Amino acid sequence: MNAPLPLKVTRDVAARAYDFVAKVSNEVAGKLAARLAEETQGEVLFSNADKGRYATDASIYQVMPVGVFVPRTSDEVKTALAICRDLNVPIVARGGGTSQCGQTVGAGLVIDHAKYVRNILNVDVEQRTAEVEPGIVLDHLNAALKKHGLWFPVDVSTSAQATLGGMAGNNSCGSRSIAYGNMVHNVLGLTAWRSDGGLLELGRMDAASGEARALGSYVKTLSDALLPELVAHWPKVMRRVAGYNLDIFNNQSEKPYTQDGSVNLAHLLVGSEGTLALTKSLKLRLAELPRSKVLGVVNFPTFYKAMDAAQHIVKIGDGTLTAVELVDRTMIELSLQNPVFAATVRSALIGQPEAILLVEFSGASKTELIPKIKQLVELMGELGLPGSVVEMIDDAAQKNLWEVRKAGLNIMMSLKGDGKPVSFIEDCAVPLEHLAEYTSALTEVFRKHGSKGTWYAHASVGTLHVRPILDMRREGAAKMRAIAEEASALVRHYKGAYSGEHGDGLCRGEWIGWQFGPKITQAFAQIKHHLDPLNLLSPQRMIDPPKMDDTTLMRFPPNYKVIPIKTALDWSAWNVQNNPVTEQTSTPGSGGDPANGFAKAVEMCNNNGHCRKFDAGTMCPSYRVTRDEKHLTRGRANTLRLALSGQLQGIKAEDAFTSEAVKDALDLCVGCKGCKRDCPTGVDMAKMKIEFLHHYKGKHGYTFKDKLIAYLPDYAPWASRFAPLLNLRDKLPGLAFLSEKLIGLSARRTLPQWKTKTFFNTPQATATRSEVLAATKPVVLFVDTFNGYFESENASAALKVLQAAGYTVHIASKAQPDGKSLCCGRTYLASGMVDKAKTKAREMVDALAPFAEKGIAIVGLEPSCLLTLRDEMLVMGLGAAAQTINGHALLLEEFLAREATAGKLGALKAALKPITQPILLHGHCHQKAFGAVSPIMDVLKLIPGAQPELIESSCCGMAGSFGYEASHYEVSMQMAELSLLPAVRQQPDAVVLADGTSCRHQIKDGAQREAIHVAVLLARQLR
Ligand SMILES: Cc1cc2nc3c(=O)[nH]c(=O)nc-3n(C[C@H](O)[C@H](O)[C@H](O)COP(=O)(O)OP(=O)(O)OC[C@H]3O[C@@H](n4cnc5c(N)ncnc54)[C@H](O)[C@@H]3O)c2cc1C
Ligand code: SF4
Ligand code: SF4
Repeated sequence: MNAPLPLKVTRDVAARAYDFVAKVSNEVAGKLAARLAEETQGEVLFSNADKGRYATDASIYQVMPVGVFVPRTSDEVKTALAICRDLNVPIVARGGGTSQCGQTVGAGLVIDHAKYVRNILNVDVEQRTAEVEPGIVLDHLNAALKKHGLWFPVDVSTSAQATLGGMAGNNSCGSRSIAYGNMVHNVLGLTAWRSDGGLLELGRMDAASGEARALGSYVKTLSDALLPELVAHWPKVMRRVAGYNLDIFNNQSEKPYTQDGSVNLAHLLVGSEGTLALTKSLKLRLAELPRSKVLGVVNFPTFYKAMDAAQHIVKIGDGTLTAVELVDRTMIELSLQNPVFAATVRSALIGQPEAILLVEFSGASKTELIPKIKQLVELMGELGLPGSVVEMIDDAAQKNLWEVRKAGLNIMMSLKGDGKPVSFIEDCAVPLEHLAEYTSALTEVFRKHGSKGTWYAHASVGTLHVRPILDMRREGAAKMRAIAEEASALVRHYKGAYSGEHGDGLCRGEWIGWQFGPKITQAFAQIKHHLDPLNLLSPQRMIDPPKMDDTTLMRFPPNYKVIPIKTALDWSAWNVQNNPVTEQTSTPGSGGDPANGFAKAVEMCNNNGHCRKFDAGTMCPSYRVTRDEKHLTRGRANTLRLALSGQLQGIKAEDAFTSEAVKDALDLCVGCKGCKRDCPTGVDMAKMKIEFLHHYKGKHGYTFKDKLIAYLPDYAPWASRFAPLLNLRDKLPGLAFLSEKLIGLSARRTLPQWKTKTFFNTPQATATRSEVLAATKPVVLFVDTFNGYFESENASAALKVLQAAGYTVHIASKAQPDGKSLCCGRTYLASGMVDKAKTKAREMVDALAPFAEKGIAIVGLEPSCLLTLRDEMLVMGLGAAAQTINGHALLLEEFLAREATAGKLGALKAALKPITQPILLHGHCHQKAFGAVSPIMDVLKLIPGAQPELIESSCCGMAGSFGYEASHYEVSMQMAELSLLPAVRQQPDAVVLADGTSCRHQIKDGAQREAIHVAVLLARQLR
């Protein structure tokens, strides 16, 4: 599936791998790549772009690895280890790379376990255990366990990305850790490769033998000798994840490692962050899936009161309490500003609270749990807050509120400008009785340093997340140090743990000595030396770590520079700076970006890895089928960032942006805009690809295929006259083959069929410009090239429906007629011809502005065309008129849904016949990106008896011309097979609806079913 890259060492070049890599890297790297390629079947990624993509994680750090290895089996990890041992190359183990402290960045061979080493080895339903390989993602494991009524309950927020190996590496903790504990409390056994190649098999100490027993005895001796030190220095809170778990023999935590007091040697490796051994498999303790949940939302007049109440709340519930999560005023405000979440948040509020706590109880039934909510109500009365609890019994309401809690963080992370919320003290854990004082004092520290923090998350266990806003390119590192020093003093004062959830890595390594004192730190070094005497595994991390504020290790060091670029699109909205206290941003264009805001838009990616997901939403289809970091929104953003800042080694800085390395990374981006909506920080890769193509094609030239696709709207009027001739391509044997060879259009595809009789050359009974401007129920129908020339029946159906609903319909046409139809410029944009697209867009503006200015809706049918008016046309320098049109451009279903809500569709409703056939709907990605799918569902419900079902799908894979191209055919079909085509096949009797012309084509090609536009179904149902 992976397109070959110059320095991706594929099988065929394995023999030449040494020369290949050594030329641009160094001799050791060359030997390493050559041997990996020879001795394994794994992916050997040594190009500078690949290394750059693995140089970062969700932290502020960046360190170039020597190379990247993606093993196909766990035995290949062992082989890689042996090669690294021979060559003395360090190893950095990696899962999803979502660590926040720099655990997965380092100057060694990065071994990515997430792509292939992800099997479930065994599930024992009776014993409630599962054995898994380290690369499996938590959500995927839980999806497989669901049918048994079980789950692995360490529910980290990154459950859709985090691998079990990574979770064990970091000793991760979920929102419900008060009930289920941390990772360490749920690991029963572990096998791992030592750096000498031996396999450690770790489980209960009392059953251990051989090497495991020897290891246990060694650590026990250390632990026993240090008992007074442990008692004096070891934090007693459950949320302590720093250092190695030396206290397994002398438990210091408020929650012991095991329920029966036994010692489990696997726990030694949990939280060791890949520094002791490489996990091969994990045996996990599973829990019963909670059958019922209820939520009490407590409203507090002050933040302090909320923090103070947590210590009392955790004592209620008789074992059913599973979460106490904080949402503070800033997050409440942010969520209230979001139209999607406002209603849900309001339903949880009583007045204007300064903070709310989400208190969850889980158990066998609601009946059992409702009294627990009553307990909560009583408790709040006793604490002087009667009437402060909103009771949420309904599952849907609870789910919506949890979504808001997550989204609040996302909105916070989307702050534009160089100041960003930085994670470095965001998981200090303090005993609950001190939580109120601790948070107040730390807020004061932020204020003193000219910053501000928003508080959220795990009040139940004293681990509140908070990220002060810092500008890491300027004074951020110094401020970070100063704040960390003061925070650590507070943590010590309140006897807490400095590292309470996210691990040590580069950010907190230096604080291990501070937390535990020299003797325990020395014991950690001895454990490291005992297990990894060669110091091969993530050296200089937990032992001898660098300073947290070493700017040479940072993604944005003080010498970070952006190469000037004259952009084709307007990126000035990103070219701003912000005030860390008020979060106000400066005027667009004032941010000082030499790339006119484009670089700052790219830098919005903070590497959180949210795009590595397979669940709901669209982002990111090319990753979903390839599982490659390169074909992931994050990988693309990193590639662009490295290019724009001249960090793609081996490529001249001024050539980097238009290099093949960037082209390769963007090649499989289908421009679905999934990331625009789903990425927490709004990274809009589809738009970035347009900007890139403009520069790349401008330099390297357009192919015939580019021109054939881009100029389609221009030649469509005359091409339609030669329809029978042009359609021969799909009829005469050999022509499709020829079109693949000569042009690059896949022979396995049919092409859209030209028609001689089109919507545009058929007389229509429609209103003139002046008639629609004077009408009482006016609407302007924008018929795009695809629906006008290839699928005229859609345009005719839309016209019929609008007229049946009583509207005076005008078909949009050019202000200066030239025989061609109006065009939004989409095909030009997709080919990178931004200047040509601007010409088209200007014609659109001239034609449509008079209607928009009068408040008349401009209705379109093809999502990718109509939504261009609401997206790209706003960044083409078209002035205020484009903004006005943006406010009135609607898809047919959006218009009808709006009018139905306003009670204007009585006539249409009365005219619709009932339907009995099932209806399956596939939303176009751009509809999803603009939240325009639910209006289709609303409109379909106007048809009596209609019970539409939405297919939970990502991009159909056709994406304009993408799927027609021979080089993309396979990927395109795989995208369609992810969920769309199986869903269509599963319901052979259903009417399949798809508003996108490419989606319909894909469904026809892949499932041999005729999908139709919603307009056609509505028209069919007219009496
Ligand atoms: C937005 C956001 C929210 C988060 N929320 C939470 C949260 O709720 N709770 C929480 O605990 N954390 C959270 N994290 C941190 C992070 O997601 C978790 O620590 C997660 O479990 C890491 O999983 P991963 O697969 O990405 O691991 P990685 O980051 O890839 O690796 C984590 C560690 O494990 C090591 N490792 C990986 N594979 C192996 C192996 N096979 N053998 C040995 N070592 C290995 C790595 O070297 C590294 O030290 C969050 C992070 C982000 C960005
Ligand atoms: S592209 Fe968005 S979702 Fe992906 S890592 Fe970057 S910020 Fe996160
Ligand atoms: S536009 Fe679509 S394919 Fe491209 S990066 Fe974003 S989500 Fe992925």
